[in-house]
Amino acid sequence: MRSPVLEVRDLQVHFRVDAGSFFRHDYHSIRAVDGISLDVYPAETLGIVGESGCGKSTLARALLGLQRARGGSIKWLGDEFVGASEEFLRKKRREIQIIFQDPSGSLDPRMTVGEIVAEPLKTFFPSMSKMQIRERVSGMLQMVGLRSDQLNRYPHEFSGGQCQRVGIARALVVNPRLVVCDEPVSALDVSIQAQIVNLLKDLQQKLQLSLIFIAHDLSVVRHVSDRVLVMYLGRVMELADRESIYHAPRHPYTRALIESVPIPDPVRERARARRSLQGDMPSPLNPPSGCVFRTRCPFAIDRCAAEVPELEMLEDGNRVACHRHRELPGEPWPESDEADEEVSPT
Ligand code: SF4
Repeated sequence: MRSPVLEVRDLQVHFRVDAGSFFRHDYHSIRAVDGISLDVYPAETLGIVGESGCGKSTLARALLGLQRARGGSIKWLGDEFVGASEEFLRKKRREIQIIFQDPSGSLDPRMTVGEIVAEPLKTFFPSMSKMQIRERVSGMLQMVGLRSDQLNRYPHEFSGGQCQRVGIARALVVNPRLVVCDEPVSALDVSIQAQIVNLLKDLQQKLQLSLIFIAHDLSVVRHVSDRVLVMYLGRVMELADRESIYHAPRHPYTRALIESVPIPDPVRERARARRSLQGDMPSPLNPPSGCVFRTRCPFAIDRCAAEVPELEMLEDGNRVACHRHRELPGEPWPESDEADEEVSPT
């Protein structure tokens, strides 16, 4: 049996915010990540989806040790990250790299592309000679579809897609084992998105990388992921293999997210049932009792307000956190008067 490279158990990341006035402080705790557990296996892609503000990016930062966790455990190849020293985390960052959302904004405009890609090599491999670094950087640029003669150019001379290729080269140049892709294509034109997603897929297979792919676009996540984790208000709603998530979703939130992906056929798009999410996501300052999704769930019953549903392991190894998951998959989505006010999963 395969062992995971990353094991996360009951991870908690809380922020303290002052919701008081000019005269009086009133501190509250926001549970941005509230008891997340997940595993990532060698050479697999775990997709993470959910609406904006659900805690996806905070989770990503916590996994990299860039955001301190309040509790729980993050084990990377057996080493515990929660509570570890900054020096220890810095050393481990070579093995876990990140690709950011905004390709242009994440590159230093004063540095050439060659310097940007070489920077992590100088940090993690201080004994490498200038010649070795130059060769490695040139090879890396070619691997991501750029030319080695573009080494001396600056980020502003590149398109958004090319800048993201530079970001990918910078992340991969130090031979990481896990790469966290935090919405890597959401700032790019649709025509470029597919190129970058295909590049990441190719590189993953070539280098046998593990990927965590965060996106709000479910069609993108479907294309790259082996398993998908659905988050809502800092918690896991469903964690399942790609086919189950898309063909037999068990959680009402997953169903609503899938239904909100437009079908590129206007006739089928108009004809299909509208399963809209009503209202906005509740404030994380004051999450609902019981199931956090209950204020937008058309299937909620009294038990949903009283009891937090456990993330239950099912016979097929998938997981779901819903009191009614056994009875709901066959039930039609209730008609809504507000169907036109569909909430997109951004
Ligand atoms: S536990 Fe209740 S409120 Fe939550 S998703 Fe299931 S049915 Fe809906």
